[in-house]
Amino acid sequence: MFSRILIANRGEIALRIIRSARELGIQTVCVFSEADRGAPWLDYCDDAVCIGPPPASESYLNIPRIISAAEVANVDAIHPGYGFLAENAHFAEICRSCKIAFIGPSPESMSALGDKINCKKLARQSNVPVFPGSESAIEEKAEALQIAEEIGYPVIVKASAGGGGRGMRIAHNRVSLETGIDAAQAEAQAAFGNGAVYVEKFLETARHVEVQVMGDQHGNAVHLFDRDCSTQRRHQKLIEEAPAPGVDPDKRDKLCTAAARLIQSAGYSGAATVEFLMDDDQLFYMLEVNTRVQVEHPVTEMITGIDIVAAMIRVSAGEPLPFTQDEISIRGHAIECRINAEDPDHNFAPRPGTLSRFDVPGGPGVRVDTHCRQGYRIPPNYDSLIGKLIVAGRDREHAIQRTLGALTEFQIEGIPTTIGLHRRLLKYSGFINAEIDIHYLERLLA
Ligand code: ADP
Repeated sequence: MFSRILIANRGEIALRIIRSARELGIQTVCVFSEADRGAPWLDYCDDAVCIGPPPASESYLNIPRIISAAEVANVDAIHPGYGFLAENAHFAEICRSCKIAFIGPSPESMSALGDKINCKKLARQSNVPVFPGSESAIEEKAEALQIAEEIGYPVIVKASAGGGGRGMRIAHNRVSLETGIDAAQAEAQAAFGNGAVYVEKFLETARHVEVQVMGDQHGNAVHLFDRDCSTQRRHQKLIEEAPAPGVDPDKRDKLCTAAARLIQSAGYSGAATVEFLMDDDQLFYMLEVNTRVQVEHPVTEMITGIDIVAAMIRVSAGEPLPFTQDEISIRGHAIECRINAEDPDHNFAPRPGTLSRFDVPGGPGVRVDTHCRQGYRIPPNYDSLIGKLIVAGRDREHAIQRTLGALTEFQIEGIPTTIGLHRRLLKYSGFINAEIDIHYLERLLA
């Protein structure tokens, strides 16, 4: 096992990693930018190294500075958290060449699954359901037009190297498909240095359902069941829950097993998420695979009792997965509300500032993952997540009731937050009855 790891991240996920490492008897070293000097989570690690100015490009995204910090701090491994360098195969490769373990997949399996065209190909081979559409990058427009005729409009043009919703175009007819291909290719080339695009069926309404999976270096792979993340705005998730409501047990079993098979076929080690859209008939179509720990991993931890971050550390040290598929089961229901420093009344504009009051809720089934405390000044340089409220209950109804109670106890002053909106959503009949899809929040707010 490692004796010392470096955390190449900040905020709540840095603290989350510190906690699991501590339990495993591992020391932690945090890197921080000048904007995060004196930040609360740095009180909990064993060592902290300043790596540069506030812009992420000069600190949390700066590979040479992070590697130098790792060498100076003499760590055995680096946990990238989520965001920043977590899905950068080049970074994983540099870690390897510096003989520092990357707590995540190998650069090869990260690239194999991160390239969407290749990932779809692997998914087909593993019997993971995918959207009908092209099976390789579009070479000629005529070919894309032909596929669109076959599967029917609307279709979506997507970049193979895509991320953050860039390089995507929806087309309702031939003309918009032709222009969409040009636009998506140009955007993908500029953003990712790779202009490969493909076309697939576009689903007008759907739920976002994803499967948590984990693999190890010994060829084992398991799933930790599913989550629903349909409550989103501009592709930013706001509420996540596990298990996903409205999925029949046999469908769940098939989907989750297929997701585990997919990462097994990619020789994947570490935590990953296979994302799907689910239509009204409970048909699933894979969107993409995220090769990192996700923001919403705690809802899965709450229903399975598994520490995903600890398991990630163990498998990257070469241990086998600390559980078998038979040992993983669902207990109750869990909901996560993302508490952001944003003003829902003003188009969710980020509102960094000082927390003049920060009282967190507690009680049975209530977990708060946050790096904040009273008096903390949130810097304007990074994302606006200030904490996650994760609540478990016997069933969905119980979890909703408990979450509402916890949201009432959660008192933040000094900045606007999403707490009020969460209270509204958890009392909204559509949410209570799980009549949700990926656009319901935007319709409700319109
Ligand atoms: P990115 O990696 O850029 O986030 P994704 O493949 O995850 O790209 O897609 C982002 C979002 O775009 C999805 O959450 C979904 O809302 C929408 N989307 C992508 N593909 C489709 C599709 N085939 N049909 C309907 N919506 C889609």
